[in-house]
Amino acid sequence: MRTPENQAAYDAFKQTYKGECAFCDMPEREPTQVVETNETMMVIQNIFPYNNWDGFVVADHRMIVPKRHLGSLDAFNEQERNDYFDLLREYEAAHYSFYSRAPSNTARTVYHLHTHLIKPVGY
Ligand SMILES: [Zn+2]
Repeated sequence: MRTPENQAAYDAFKQTYKGECAFCDMPEREPTQVVETNETMMVIQNIFPYNNWDGFVVADHRMIVPKRHLGSLDAFNEQERNDYFDLLREYEAAHYSFYSRAPSNTARTVYHLHTHLIKPVGY
């Protein structure tokens, strides 16, 4: 859940964004938001972070996003599977929890696969 201010900023972005895909053009549009990359994946700082998740206050909110415009894990090739898993291991060890909505989840607003990495305050 976002603060009302962050939710309003996110809603305004969705209404005014004119590009094809906000994740595909992220490296060009918001290069400072890309905090880490490997061969096939990027980790981006969420511009509109949740402030509360799973009953705790959020200290940091990032997302793993494949560089290719893919809608589900099922579309990964072997390199993408390895790169994605390497990042999950790295962030799990750093006390982040993961969340990714299924392609069929109507609450998912963006086609391009994105896995939320959420770290609570206190770690
Ligand atoms: Zn995309």
